[in-house]
Amino acid sequence: MTSPEPETVRVRFAPSPTGFLHVGGVRTALYNWLVARGQKGTMILRIEDTDVERSTEEAVTAILDGLRWLKLDWDEGPDVGGPVGPYRQLERYTLYRDAAQRLLREGKAYPCTCLPEELAARREAARSAKPAPQHLCPCRTAGPTPGRRQAIRFSATARARVGWDDLVQGRIEVAADEIDDFIILRSDDRETPVYNFAAVVDDALMGITHVVRGADHIPNTPKQILLYEALGYPVPAFAHIPLVLGPDREKLSKRHGDVALQAYRDQGYLPEAMINYLVRLGWAHGDQEVFTREELIKAFQLERVGASPGIFDRAKLDWLNALHIRQTPLDVLADLLAPFWGAAGVDPRTVEARSRTWLVQAVALFVERSKTLLEMARSMAFLFAPPAARDPKAEAKFLTPDHLALLAETRQALAQAPDFSAEALEDLVRRLAEARGRKLVDYAQPIRVALTGTTVSPPIFPVLALLGREVVLNRLARILGPG
Ligand code: GLU
Repeated sequence: MTSPEPETVRVRFAPSPTGFLHVGGVRTALYNWLVARGQKGTMILRIEDTDVERSTEEAVTAILDGLRWLKLDWDEGPDVGGPVGPYRQLERYTLYRDAAQRLLREGKAYPCTCLPEELAARREAARSAKPAPQHLCPCRTAGPTPGRRQAIRFSATARARVGWDDLVQGRIEVAADEIDDFIILRSDDRETPVYNFAAVVDDALMGITHVVRGADHIPNTPKQILLYEALGYPVPAFAHIPLVLGPDREKLSKRHGDVALQAYRDQGYLPEAMINYLVRLGWAHGDQEVFTREELIKAFQLERVGASPGIFDRAKLDWLNALHIRQTPLDVLADLLAPFWGAAGVDPRTVEARSRTWLVQAVALFVERSKTLLEMARSMAFLFAPPAARDPKAEAKFLTPDHLALLAETRQALAQAPDFSAEALEDLVRRLAEARGRKLVDYAQPIRVALTGTTVSPPIFPVLALLGREVVLNRLARILGPG
């Protein structure tokens, strides 16, 4: 005897490709993905591109690239056998038309020929009318006006209330008479479906069991529930996750800084850090802050998503990114830095000219002190070419005539040093300092400013060893001038 297939969860991320991929949207994608992976379910990506005026292929590419970068993969799509999906609503218009025709045949929808200005006038009149009319469009009873283009309008069924037990927000109910009949297919040549209709037809046909999306879609849900019922489809579970807000508690937008995932990628945030950061914007697992992807898959539960909004906190993201950088193997970091050299002002060929062992040693010196890969590449730039400019304050303080005299002495000693390892060099400079009754820092800081252009760098002796004798002597000579 075979046991029936266990019911598996099926979730979807359904972005509209009308701009960049917003980090709030990424969090929605992530929550869906974690539900699917945690319960061995199915993740679907559906591009909601029915708004042809605002949708662009660039935006589709940004969505796909962003999700791939984060390794939030999806399982199903129209091209089974080839590369998987995503589904695109533009390719599914027959399905929406068929569903609308069925509602027409069953008397659950009707053709509507109202002009926008007629509806606007009726809306205006309805404001002062008592009791308020339930339907603005007369076509329901009077029938369509001949000779006009027809849209299809859904007959909102008469019932007291529409409600659902939201997995995040709890019970939500609205009075059904607040829902007027609404358009499901427009009157344009393509018979474009409205979002609510296309989303319901797709969610039903795709067998979606849990609709996990932003709380901004709560007002759409009652209409969607009426549509599921009219179409005879089971109503899925809904989980409306609170929006991501900026520090001023307004919806996170460009005003608050970077909101496009791409901006974070370009600045050298690691995908694992982004995921770790975004998951915590609205979900908690005890007081654990740092998670691997596997831990998240095990621990994530929709029911534990809080109903209050997450506040985007760049400092915390930086902290997590620094932490994930430190947890990344050095040789992997060396590879991850490759796309950042250009932006850091480093000629990538000067990096390629170095051995891998050298590069890994260099990365080791910076790994503890970098918040992003771009920052790391920038602070490593002096390893590949003399600093283009020196911090004037550092120069004024540490390249005084007194310091330059010490630097000249150091340069001579370095020229003759039998051993150019970090330990040997530190020993050598320490002895120079002791011989003159000076502090090590009186030597170390001028060397640092001369070589790196700033007073902040990794420990200077390993840096000397890494740069090598020739580069060190040349750079010091440039500071000291002839003689
Ligand atoms: N296309 C909608 C959006 O980007 C998705 C809504 C949904 O998930 O149902 O907001």
